[in-house]
Order: sequence, then C-alpha cells, then structure tokens
Amino acid sequence: SYDEFYVKSVIRSLHDWPEPGVIFRDVTPIFKDPKAMRMVSDAFIQRYLNSEITHIACVDARGFLFGAIMAHQLNLPLVLVRKKGKLPGETIHQEYELEYGKAAVEMQTDALSAGDKVLLFDDLIATGGTLLAACTLINKLGAEVVEAASLIDLPDLQGSTRIQELGIPVFTLLAYE
Ligand code: 5GP
Repeated sequence: SYDEFYVKSVIRSLHDWPEPGVIFRDVTPIFKDPKAMRMVSDAFIQRYLNSEITHIACVDARGFLFGAIMAHQLNLPLVLVRKKGKLPGETIHQEYELEYGKAAVEMQTDALSAGDKVLLFDDLIATGGTLLAACTLINKLGAEVVEAASLIDLPDLQGSTRIQELGIPVFTLLAYE
C-alpha cells in the first residue's frame, strides 16, 4: 500500500538546479525503484478506478511515464501534451509565462473531442503554468478537465490554488513546502 514516507525517501532534492536558489525535486530515482513506481502508480489507479474520466492527458516528459501506466491499468486512451514542435500533423499550442521568458505546450487537434472527460496528469505542480496551459488546450478541443493530478505539489508557488480557482479539482500525493 501507499507509503508517503517511503516515496519521499526515494525522491532526490537537488539544490541550485537548474539555477541558484532552486531546489529541484528529482523523481527519476522513482523510475529506478519498482516498489516506489508501483506505489505511486497504484495510488493514482485506485483513485480513478470506476471514475467518469474517459481520457488521460499527460505532460511531456515525466508525466508520460506515469500516464502510460495509468492508461494501461485503467484501460483508457492516453493523449499527449508536448513541448511545442514535437508533435506531427495538425496541432494547437498555448504559450505561458516562465520566470524568465516563455514556454508553450502543444496537442494534436484530434487528441480529444467535445464531451471527453479528461484526467490531466504531470509529475509536479510548481506555478501551475504548464497545467493551466494544458487545460486551455483541452478546453479548446471541446473536452473537460475533470481533475488535474500530479505526484508532487509545491504549494508555496500557488499553482494548485490557481488551478482550483478555475473550478478544477487538484489531486496530489506529496507536498514540499
Ligand atoms: P509549473 O508550470 O507548474 O511552474 O512547473 C511544472 C512543470 O515544470 C512540470 O512539467 C514539471 O515537470 C517541471 N518542474 C518544475 N520544477 C520541478 C521540480 O522541482 N521537479 C520536477 N520533477 N519537475 C519540475
């Protein structure tokens, strides 16, 4: 069963990466630890068993790794929210502000349709900019974000609050103050 203490012990905190003053929460050791990977994946799978969601949308790139397991176990279609310029065919994109500069996420226009009920997943919520941009794309395709979920929340950065203020429930397993 899910053990928050164990999962936190596997996540690595890197100080001053990618720039001075930042503590980066590195989840890659989870991918190397089948017990932690299973705990995390199972916690999300449990939550969304027998839910109304029809699709899982996951964010480039660590979101893909959990998203694929959830989609497989829940037998749901998986759609990708990628960094701009990676997806072939007809796409839409949404820019958002970073601390320095801008970024953009992109989806294929046939990824979702009107009426689809989407679980949006990424590994971590910081400012919420990435997930909010993803929500905009999902809504542009006519679909609804039923819940936004991530392994880690950084509540001090207010991202999960910003998402909830739009009326979208947020579910996270761990928080780092
Ligand atoms: P936001 O858009 O919420 O400010 O930042 C979240 C995005 O940046 C996510 O896609 C996440 O993968 C990445 N990110 C930002 N900070 C961290 C961090 O400390 N650890 C990890 N694993 N990802 C981060």
